[in-house]
Amino acid sequence: MNIPEYFGSMVFDDSAMKSRLSQSVYSAMKRTIDDGRSLDISIANAVADAMKEWAIERGATHFTHWFQPMTGITAEKHDSFIVPAANGKVIMEFSGKELIKGEPDASAFPSGGLRATFEARGYTAWDPTSYAFIKEHTLCIPTAFCSFGGEALDMKTPLLRSMEALNRQAMRILHLFGNQNVTSIKTTVGPEQEYFLIDKEMFDKRRDIYYTGRTLFGARPPKGQELHDHYFGALKPRVAAFMKELDEELWKLGVLAKTEHNEAAPAQHELAPIYTTTNIATDHNQLTMEMMQRIAPKHGLACLLHEKPFEGVNGSGKHNNWSIQTNTGTNLLTPGDTPYENAQFLIFLCAFIRAVDEYSDLLRLSTATAGNDHRLGGHEAPPAIVSIFLGDELTSILDSIEQDTAYSAAEKQPLRLGVHVLPKLPRDTTDRNRTSPIAFTGNKFEFRMLGAPASIALTNVMLNTAVAESLSLFADELENANDFESALHDLLRRTIHDHRRVIFNGNGYDEAWVREATEVRGLHNLRTTPDCVPKLLDRKNIDLFVKHNIFTESELRSRCHIMLSNYCKVLNIEARTMIDMVRRDILPAISAYEGKLSSAANEKRSLSSTISCGYEEKLVRRLSVLADTICRCTDTLEDNLTEIKTISDVFPRSGKYRDIICPVMEELRTAVDEAETCTASEFWPFPTYGDLLFGVR
Ligand code: ADP
Ligand code: MG
Repeated sequence: MNIPEYFGSMVFDDSAMKSRLSQSVYSAMKRTIDDGRSLDISIANAVADAMKEWAIERGATHFTHWFQPMTGITAEKHDSFIVPAANGKVIMEFSGKELIKGEPDASAFPSGGLRATFEARGYTAWDPTSYAFIKEHTLCIPTAFCSFGGEALDMKTPLLRSMEALNRQAMRILHLFGNQNVTSIKTTVGPEQEYFLIDKEMFDKRRDIYYTGRTLFGARPPKGQELHDHYFGALKPRVAAFMKELDEELWKLGVLAKTEHNEAAPAQHELAPIYTTTNIATDHNQLTMEMMQRIAPKHGLACLLHEKPFEGVNGSGKHNNWSIQTNTGTNLLTPGDTPYENAQFLIFLCAFIRAVDEYSDLLRLSTATAGNDHRLGGHEAPPAIVSIFLGDELTSILDSIEQDTAYSAAEKQPLRLGVHVLPKLPRDTTDRNRTSPIAFTGNKFEFRMLGAPASIALTNVMLNTAVAESLSLFADELENANDFESALHDLLRRTIHDHRRVIFNGNGYDEAWVREATEVRGLHNLRTTPDCVPKLLDRKNIDLFVKHNIFTESELRSRCHIMLSNYCKVLNIEARTMIDMVRRDILPAISAYEGKLSSAANEKRSLSSTISCGYEEKLVRRLSVLADTICRCTDTLEDNLTEIKTISDVFPRSGKYRDIICPVMEELRTAVDEAETCTASEFWPFPTYGDLLFGVR
């Protein structure tokens, strides 16, 4: 296959538009895409018609408005192109109106109280900045999803708003630095995606993975990831075939899939795309996850995107590599070659540092789910404390600016902005601290808290908005300065001084760090979802979003409500799955094995009263104790679920799930896992961790 030829072949991209639209329609489309101008209906009709012809040639029969409601996954409702014709036949039609706006009966999507039932029908509106594409015989039109009152009901709308806000504020700064050629900036993201592949047959036998995406039970196998023999290891043939097909399907959709390799845990893998504009990267990441799950079964595999499918080995995250690019092709997070470029780099760097320090709660909560609560803080995942790793080099540059001291012995003089060139920063030394939630990696920031299944939208809303706020305050100050250079110097010194507490280059896994971060530096350590999500409604955060037109207060209330109620629902499903597995499979298996042991002992006794039955008796005793614990925990879990149901307010309800469901689930699991290690394999009703983690051959 000729990759350049089929890359993007299922995308109605710029080259498709150029070749299929008239010059005037194409120019109007370009103005809409580049400058956000609204489209005239006659133009929309022409675009829709060309899109339809293009799609039908590629086998499409249906179209859908493709959107990202607050469930975190994508939604689509398919309509065929057919329209009845006079002679009892049909013709294939697609109008500009259908392209621009859709009205899915979307009442079952979460709105967090934004929609009353009488106005349940939200609408979807075309986002022309993200290209339409064909998936499974359907023309997919990327859209935003809003209520009839205009409130955002999706992930995309606030993301686009936040990109716009950052653009506004960054342009003010760039103008102060005399960048006359730059007319806009965009943030770009490369999301590295981790996932597990397990054997499909084993997947089908594990109701916990089937219902919840993770194992709720499972004793540790003799071998885990300690030998590091999976990381970057040779691919198993089935996995290689899966990756090949995945790459091909993604390339057809214009997704820049680039790097694929085995990850640290057994059965764990990673895909990294080449970075692109944030809203497109968001769409592409959703498509990537969808394709992974769709293609795996064709190879006898199941793809797990849960944040922590297995205890005792690494969970799966998503690294959000973020930078800001100008329309003239400059990455604003690249240290430059001239004093002026350096000063500009430093102001964006300081804007980022301030943003993370002031709004670390928002960054943390943008990754908060019941699943990610298990992952953060252990096994190659960052702790729940948000800090930035800058590396020694850059940190000492900031030190010398803050303290007006020489950067190095050779330098002798204090570093003056606008006068001195920064020493060249070696790229690679910055990247190796895996314990930090945010690392500067030479020309971008890598944010590592996101869990594997998350949409990257909300995290990028937080990053964009918080940095926009820093830049807007910086611009307010600098625009009014009499002496730009000394005002800039003062601003940077003050920012470094006020926000350096968030910079930490040490080991984030260290217990001492937790103490220092919380007790000495006063940083947040928001461990669980109910701890951090309510922070969305802190006054400073509401003010931030309202000021930059990202969320209204009622939109924020709705998001907060949805995130907490998702947390409750997930735990409810997990607890009920545990109860179901215990009562219908695990306890019966233990009893059967106890029965077998007891009858073996009886048989022995009938042969001779002097034969020892110590082994059988000891085991039956142990299993009986465990079975009692299992039974008691299951009953408690059930009672607690009933009790929680009576709490209607989601804030205390989510706290209750954390406090009276999670600990019982843990106790139950411990007992079951021990019982598994004492029960003969042939009696155990589920594939073991060994089967799951090492079962793909
Ligand atoms: P690693 O982190 O594994 O060392 P890289 O740093 O090369 O690998 O890239 C990781 C991801 O970061 C890739 O998806 C890559 O496209 C993305 N990336 C690289 N440069 C940028 C940038 N300037 N902005 C955003 N993402 C970037
Ligand atoms: Mg990386």
